[in-house]
Amino acid sequence: MSHLRDERAQERALMVERQIRMRGGADPRVLEAMQKVPRHLFVPKNKAGYAYEDCALSIGSGQTISQPYIVALMSELLHLEGMERVLEVGTGSGYQAAILCELAGMLYSIERLPNLALAAEKALTDAGYSNFEIKVGDGSLGWPEHAPYDAILVTAAGPETPQALLDQLADGGRLVIPVGLQHLQTLQVWHRSGDNFEKEEAGRVVFVPLIGAQGWQEDRETPWS
Ligand code: SAM
Repeated sequence: MSHLRDERAQERALMVERQIRMRGGADPRVLEAMQKVPRHLFVPKNKAGYAYEDCALSIGSGQTISQPYIVALMSELLHLEGMERVLEVGTGSGYQAAILCELAGMLYSIERLPNLALAAEKALTDAGYSNFEIKVGDGSLGWPEHAPYDAILVTAAGPETPQALLDQLADGGRLVIPVGLQHLQTLQVWHRSGDNFEKEEAGRVVFVPLIGAQGWQEDRETPWS
């Protein structure tokens, strides 16, 4: 790790210890990835000083980079071991994507806003990642060309779990998605076994809306608050 990437390692260590491990985060690979990825390089320059705070931050265009604890929790729920093909819906800043690049073999990530997709692609490349592909589009329909996926992570909240995403999950795969109303959702964890889909719930969360054919309609979108 270069000096530049390591310059805020101490802040990251505190973030991992106080915000994640002390709240029950226990997957060593996730803790290691959260310690390694330079989160301050994925937030707007004027917010870099807050990159390791215990909160979500605005990344412009009405969107957010999720709170570090939520990134760790959702990553842990995917049970990744290192070789998986993963789909992320909602690239945003690219930070969660970087964590997934650390944890899996190949990441496909979809973002509906072209300016965010472009900035995320640059941030990921600058940080040294190459095991990813980003496209601009409606991720509520998945990315059928690369399906099936061993894991799917949706980082925007839908009114229900898109059938297209369940269909693109590999046998034995896991899908994590916030589902519910606009200001409060439940984190759903789906596990596929053949044609059988089991669902568990993993707590309450607040995410920006998933806008798309199998999400909310565009006029439901509201500014981040
Ligand atoms: N994972 C991101 C990160 O690490 O910064 C956080 C993502 S932010 C909470 C949710 C993102 O989902 C926004 O960038 C938003 O534009 C995007 N989004 C919403 N609906 C989408 C859709 N149907 N397809 C792809 N992206 C979508």
